[in-house]
Amino acid sequence: MGGPAPAVPRKASPHEADPELTPFTCVECGGALWVHVNDDVLRLRCRVGHSYSIDGLLLDKHAALERALWAAVVALEERAELSRRIVRRLEGSGLSTQARRIRASIVADEAQASSCGS
Ligand SMILES: [Zn+2]
Repeated sequence: MGGPAPAVPRKASPHEADPELTPFTCVECGGALWVHVNDDVLRLRCRVGHSYSIDGLLLDKHAALERALWAAVVALEERAELSRRIVRRLEGSGLSTQARRIRASIVADEAQASSCGS
C-alpha cells in the first residue's frame, strides 16, 4: 500500500478552483472532504489525500453503510442470544418475573435485527 498522496486543500494549478469544504466525510479516515474542481473535473479529497469521484464516494458510502448495518444485526442477535441464556438461568432459579422482563427485550432485539437485515 503506497498510501494516499498528500492533499491538503490548496490550489494545484491555474485550472483548479479553490477547494470548498463539504459536509461529507472520508470513508477511509473519517476526515472532512473538500471539493476540488480541476478542468471541470470534480473530485472530493480529504486532508490525508483519499480521493473520490462523486459516484465513487456514493458507492463507498453505500458499502460502509452495508457493513455498519450487518454489524448492527450481529450485535442485536448476539445480545438476544445472551439474553436467552440469562432467561434460562433465571427460570431455572425460579426467578420468572425477571425472566419475563428480559424475554421482552429479546423480542425487541430480534425485531430490530430482522428489520436491519431485510
Ligand atoms: Zn481520508
